[in-house]
This record gives sequence, structure tokens and C-alpha cells, in this order.
Amino acid sequence: MPVPVSQMWTVASYVLGQKLKRRKHFPVVLMLEPLMRCNLACAGCGKIQYPGHILKKELTPEQCFNAVDECGAPMVSIPGGEPLMHPQIVEIVEGLLARKKYIYLCTNGLLLKEKLHLFKPSKYLSFVVHMDGLKEHHDFAVCREGTYDKALEAIKLALARGFRVTTNTTLFDGADPQSVREFFDTMMEVGVEGMMLSPGYTYDKAPDQEHFLSKNKTRRLFRQILSNRHEKWQFNMSPLFLEYLMGKREYKCTPWGMPTYNIFGWQKPCYLLQDGYADTFDELINTTKWERYGTESGNPKCANCMVHSGYEASAVNHTFGSLGGLWATAKATFFHRYPDPEVDNDQTPRPKAPTPTLVHITTPES
Ligand code: SF4
Repeated sequence: MPVPVSQMWTVASYVLGQKLKRRKHFPVVLMLEPLMRCNLACAGCGKIQYPGHILKKELTPEQCFNAVDECGAPMVSIPGGEPLMHPQIVEIVEGLLARKKYIYLCTNGLLLKEKLHLFKPSKYLSFVVHMDGLKEHHDFAVCREGTYDKALEAIKLALARGFRVTTNTTLFDGADPQSVREFFDTMMEVGVEGMMLSPGYTYDKAPDQEHFLSKNKTRRLFRQILSNRHEKWQFNMSPLFLEYLMGKREYKCTPWGMPTYNIFGWQKPCYLLQDGYADTFDELINTTKWERYGTESGNPKCANCMVHSGYEASAVNHTFGSLGGLWATAKATFFHRYPDPEVDNDQTPRPKAPTPTLVHITTPES
């Protein structure tokens, strides 16, 4: 079981409580971005292109706590930028632990080893280490050699010290399903609690505009990766969201399910788009024209989006929205092999796919 029972219970009782109150727009995970600065410059990233004066800014711990209290979501994901570069990240994490929030502290792993002693293991705290695949692919995707080895060393150290650790993998066009499956095997052997997956979003600011996935390509890729699944693989995600990525079910976007708060305020409407900002969470919920977003809205910015920050909350809503949803989740949890004779993904290693041609960026540190 990848997620502790206490976390599942907290989320389940929270979502059921919101449904009993007939609240339509409720958050499940707060995406708290305390800074945009990063020590990498990945080709598919839409965050690090801000000018220097923006990259220098960061949220104070008080701003973080106010956002968490306003929003009320039981889980808080801390992406970035690289959150471990925030000088008060320990204070922020401790404040959230005191509030009994389940924290996903995202990191590329480069600073994890040297900062690990500043944190204490807790069932409420997970490090989510960005790993885009095996060594060759990961280093290429993040545009810096040696990153995989450094992140892997930090993962092993964090596990040895009793921390919860998951990985987060973003997949782009050109990903080799067989290599991704080997990566899953490796991460499970290393001992991570679970893995998270997402197709890359077509950020219009990202340097590489050629390798984002269309919806059909996303479904084909995830079907190739996740069919004939190995028993030992554990995913720290809604099993129905994984079925959605494989094209086995359809969902409408739930952008308010994972709202984003960052140095600009509450971002409208989601983690990926920037159609304005609100000063308060209530203002975000009450003034955003939600009907303008999601694939079904016809908004071209949403046309190819299947990203977890829009659609995983939809899957969670489905789970707790009906007995059918609960049954589908139970089935997906216990019968998750997804045999598919049409998908050739469980064979002896095949010839290597050509290396994806992501854009390399030279940074001052590289
Ligand atoms: S479809 Fe994607 S980009 Fe559009 S609102 Fe939903 S999460 Fe945001």
C-alpha cells in the first residue's frame, strides 16, 4: 500500500465531508509555490523563464500559512522552482506539519543530501524527487549530466533515514515505454514508497515546444507503459487517474481541485495557466469563469491537457461521488495488471529508441 492508511482516511473523510456540505468547488491539494527560482533549467519547464527580479522573490512562511489556512485542503504540494533553495523552507514545512497537513515537498534532489539533516521523518512529510527516467534520459531531460546519480544518492539516503520518498516523472513525446518500465522497476528496487506520473503540459514559455504530447499520443504512450503492469509497481496517485491517462475513462477538468498559490497570489485558473490572480482563495473560487477551462470548453490552451493538477482531483471526486466510483477504485487498486495482448511491452529488451531531441540549455552552473 503506497500511501499510509491515515492519509487515505484523512483525504476520504475530508472529501466526503465537502460532498455532504454540497460544496461544489473544493480543493484537495494546495499547490504552494514558494519561489520560481531553480538550480536547473529543464527544457520542458514553464517556470524558470521569469526575469531575474521575479526569480529572486519568495513567499514568507506567514504567507504560506495564510494560504494553507484559507484554502483548507488536507494535502499541500510544494513545487517551484526548487523549494530547497528557499531560505525558510524548514520553517514552512514545520508550520505545515503543526497543522497536520500531508506535505509533498518536491525537489530535483540536487540539494537534498546536504539539507536532509534539517528535516525530521514524519508520516505527514514526503520528499517527491523529480526523476524523468533512467540515467541517460533523466540527465538529458533536465539538461545536466550527473543529475540522476546525485538524485538517486539523495533518495537512498532519505530512505535510509526513515523519510517517505516518492518520485515524480514527467513524460514527453519520444519517451520509450520500455525504458520507462525499466525505470519503474529500478525505483521499486531502490525502495521508494510510490511513483507519480504526468504528461508534460504545453507551456508556451518552455524552450522546447516540439515534444509535448497530444491527447491521443498521451493515451497511447500511457497504455504502452501501464498495460501488463508489474505487480511490484506502486503509484502514489489515484488509480482512476492512471486509467484516465491510459484512455480507459474520460474526465472533465477540476482546476479548483488543486489550486495554486505563489508570489503573485492565487493563480487563475490552475497551476498551468496564468489568466490573472486573486488576492484570496474565496475570490479565486468566486470570480474565476470555470466554464472557460477544461478540454470540453474549447479553450485551445486546454486542448491537449491531461495533467494531474487538472484531472487527478476529477478522479478523486469520482471515487467518492458514488458507489460506482468506489467500486471502480477498488477494482483499479486490487486488479491493476491491465493485461493487453495488443501492447508489446513485456518482452526482453528491444533495440533502444532514438534519444529524444530535447533542447539543451546552458546555465551558469552547468
Ligand atoms: S485543462 Fe489543464 S490547462 Fe486547462 S484548466 Fe484544466 S488543468 Fe488548467
